[in-house]
Amino acid sequence: MSIEENVQNVRARIVQSAKRVGRDPQEICLVAVSKTVDTDRIDRALSAGITDLGENRVQEMMEKMPELQKNIRWHMIGRLQKNKVKYIIGKTALIHSLCSLEVAGEIQRLSLKKKVKTDCLIQINIGREETKAGIEAEQLPEFLQSISAMDCLRIRGLMAIAPIVDEPEKARPYFARMKQLFDGLQENAQVSRQWLSMGMSGDFEVAIEEGANMVRIGSSIFGRR
Ligand SMILES: *Cc1c(COP(=O)(O)O)cnc(C)c1O
Repeated sequence: MSIEENVQNVRARIVQSAKRVGRDPQEICLVAVSKTVDTDRIDRALSAGITDLGENRVQEMMEKMPELQKNIRWHMIGRLQKNKVKYIIGKTALIHSLCSLEVAGEIQRLSLKKKVKTDCLIQINIGREETKAGIEAEQLPEFLQSISAMDCLRIRGLMAIAPIVDEPEKARPYFARMKQLFDGLQENAQVSRQWLSMGMSGDFEVAIEEGANMVRIGSSIFGRR
């Protein structure tokens, strides 16, 4: 199947999943994960209607930005190091992977300097996996407290990567737990419950059934990496 067909196919599956649980498919944002994909192939996804691209490496994102159209919403979905923050401030629609106070402080400092607000999601290590980034669910209140004075950081919700399982159904409890955490987020001037980013090629339908409103899809659109 072509990239264009893959985009249509993923969209159709998003619609079906939303409808199964009585949700409006329109409220679900599809982020096409373009890591390792060259700009010619990304262009084909854009012509099929993709508006949001996710990258997991700062350098790769910065290389692709000037080569693609200007109105793309860029999502940083990978581990973010403090020394790389300076490259992306003012350029991303959303940073999905905030999980360290050090990085939060740097985002605050540089956003203030550039006079911008930076929208972020807090990444939760929902499967308590050593190999994955993210704060533990229990640490969320304390984390929010620690960044509450960083007024250039806008927390728009939560992100998680579910553990790799042999069938998507087994990821369901993790997504359900994320939805609970998300619903429990206290909104204030800095924090809003806008995005619950969870679900990838292997498990996005279950994630949507459990309440995801942002899914990050790579291989189902661009093929195997
Ligand atoms: C690569 C990646 C994805 C997309 O994975 P696929 O299984 O290819 O859909 C989603 N989220 C993050 C954080 C990723 O690194």
